Amino acid sequence: MTAASGRALVLRNVTIVDTRDGTLAPNADVHVSGGVIAAITTADPDSAAAAAAALTDAEVVDGSGKYLIPGFSDMHAHPLTEKHPAGDLELMLANGVTGFRQMSGSPRLLRERSAGTLPLPADSPGVVALPGSLLTPLNAGTIADAVAVIRDQAAAGADFIKVALITPQVFFPAVAEARKLGIPVAGHLPTGIDVERASRAGIKAIEHLGPGLTIIAGCSTDEVSLAEAIAGLPALRLPSIKLPFMDRILMRVLRKVVINPVNRLTPAEVEILQQAVDTFSEERAAELAGLFAEDGTWQVPTLIRLRTQYLCDAPEFSQDPDLRYMAHSTAKSWRDAAGTFTAKFPPLSRATFRAAYDVLLRMTKIFNDGGVKMLAGSDSVGAAWEVPGPSLHREFDELARAGVPPLRILQMTTRDAAEFLGATATMGTVDVGKHADLVLLDANPIADVASLHQISAVIRAGRHYSTADLTHLKDRVRTTNPAT
Ligand SMILES: [Zn+2]
Repeated sequence: MTAASGRALVLRNVTIVDTRDGTLAPNADVHVSGGVIAAITTADPDSAAAAAAALTDAEVVDGSGKYLIPGFSDMHAHPLTEKHPAGDLELMLANGVTGFRQMSGSPRLLRERSAGTLPLPADSPGVVALPGSLLTPLNAGTIADAVAVIRDQAAAGADFIKVALITPQVFFPAVAEARKLGIPVAGHLPTGIDVERASRAGIKAIEHLGPGLTIIAGCSTDEVSLAEAIAGLPALRLPSIKLPFMDRILMRVLRKVVINPVNRLTPAEVEILQQAVDTFSEERAAELAGLFAEDGTWQVPTLIRLRTQYLCDAPEFSQDPDLRYMAHSTAKSWRDAAGTFTAKFPPLSRATFRAAYDVLLRMTKIFNDGGVKMLAGSDSVGAAWEVPGPSLHREFDELARAGVPPLRILQMTTRDAAEFLGATATMGTVDVGKHADLVLLDANPIADVASLHQISAVIRAGRHYSTADLTHLKDRVRTTNPAT
């Protein structure tokens, strides 16, 4: 955790955006000291606050015409999976991300966090949640293994259990064990699982709207025949024998798959996806929304992740100016993945993917309208075309494209993230006593989601980063990124 800045700070004459309901409170002076919001007073036209600040040697920032919101939480990210995460983390901070939920952990990361030695640079967002190792057939191939690994991770201080590749046979006993221990489960629903049953069983968060076929098949008028078709697919083949270094080998394989998992789809799977698209039912999606809302099952759509997978060869990605912040080797691996995508899938398959993405946008709106709790996440670091920091802003844009109103998008990355984390006492709104993790915007974010991109300043743990500081930080990442 970054040490709180020692010098007090006054944000003068800002408009505070209430993330609870979108109300605007103009003419506020926000006093920050010791890394928290110490006081909020009415801006004094006689500059009494400025005079008082001068007496206490506080830094004064003129916020006239600007809008103050809590810093963004990227609720699905993987920067700590990298060997050298400093540049990625700095880029996230420079784009207003003051906190992130790390979605893949390890015994080492859990140890480092409790020892206070996580590899975070001085200019970094904070880690708001950290799991243990991903549950895979290696550590959770059987129910007994899954139960043992969940107990180990809970004892090691994991904030949640991340599931991804386990079989449906192991999935439900694993969720039951985690519930017994009071540790939440988040992750991907394994293919072939019944989504209603997973929600009823108490999975806390579903990532990437499934991903793949799980939720979309559950929204079909033809659910039964789709389930049969999915059951007829060859089972996922992953090593389940334990050998030394097997986990490292598996992780290396996964890293390649993660760049764009859609590249692995077979013609049979693409055909089922098209069938799901053709039979998508808004009524079924609304029913599912009702169930998620009732069960308190959160959704983390990561639409930008789904868009970059399904539209992998779109020029909007290969021509993205933010690619200049990435190492050449990383950008090259993304270009290669787009090349594989183009070479592998005929135009008809690509039309299926575009149609599937449109359905996912519709689904997101239906879930939001149906009162489903949702979070904003990018899935950056490791995923093709996902520049850490800017990719969360693209997620805001995709949510807007789906029809989610600007206030809801702001909530998904601030107040609702705090609620999800059980951390409303310290984050999520601009209130006295909250952590001074803040973003100052040039325009009103309730009027237009694009205002979220117009960052004037970032405050992280009480430290102020001006527009010039943020530019400097980005430039530093660009120039220090390894060239190979
Ligand atoms: Zn992820």
